[in-house]
Amino acid sequence: MRLCRFDDDRLGLVRDDRVLDVSEALEAIPPARWPLPQGDLLIAHLEAVRARADALAKGARSLPLAEVKLKSPVANPSKIIAAPVNYQKHLDESRLDKEINVGQEIKTIDYYGLFLKANSSLVGPGEGVALRFPDRRTDHECELAAVIGKAGSGIPRARALEHVAGYAIGIDMSIRGSEDRSFRKSVDSYAVLGPWLVTADEIEAPDALDLTLRVNGELRQQANTRDLIYDVPKLVAYASEFYTLLPGDIIMTGTPEGVSPVVPGDVIVAEMEGIGGMEIAVRAA
Ligand code: MN
Repeated sequence: MRLCRFDDDRLGLVRDDRVLDVSEALEAIPPARWPLPQGDLLIAHLEAVRARADALAKGARSLPLAEVKLKSPVANPSKIIAAPVNYQKHLDESRLDKEINVGQEIKTIDYYGLFLKANSSLVGPGEGVALRFPDRRTDHECELAAVIGKAGSGIPRARALEHVAGYAIGIDMSIRGSEDRSFRKSVDSYAVLGPWLVTADEIEAPDALDLTLRVNGELRQQANTRDLIYDVPKLVAYASEFYTLLPGDIIMTGTPEGVSPVVPGDVIVAEMEGIGGMEIAVRAA
């Protein structure tokens, strides 16, 4: 199932080039009051919402996909976890590019561990990326994103995929510079998630997905998630050694080679096998 959040926080079921408005399915989420539980309520109640959405689909209002504004399919993650330097060829290009390595020796994910992006940086493709520091190099990083469905801590690798609700494309927008990753990659709109959530049952092998990213039609990134140094199960297990993972937590798995700067006016198109594609407009903040 492909679930999207669109326009004024409507819930949509994506089928081919249409969006079926199944917002009534949100009634399957029990009402909550302060203090809200951490994590995303929709993802925490995904099974109930899915069942309602399925039942509603037949009579649902249908809209052309091209005419809706897509927001992040996860609204309230407790955290956005991201993997640094998780493809060998991105490590290689980072070592060669002084604007990326800023004179530091680039090491691997074994050395850095994981990092967090601010939740306030999260947007959907329809909201676009607003460059806050147009005088600083700001790159696209196209990444497979896994969304946690079932809470867990100390999750063994063999059970890791049981904790994944689904997948989306993540764009880890990154200012190049000397600051910590969590700072330079957490500007508002620098975490794009979309175009929708594809539930895990539709992605048999998350570690064998082709991905591409184009800027103004020009191919910049082309890779396959089989080249991840830490694959999805390992990232889930590794993250859960340090953090309790909660429904809606997003794991951006790292970017392959081909990162490059964008400027206001650019249009990014990211596509991933089994998920789909999304277009993101880049503007000045
Ligand atoms: Mn990244």
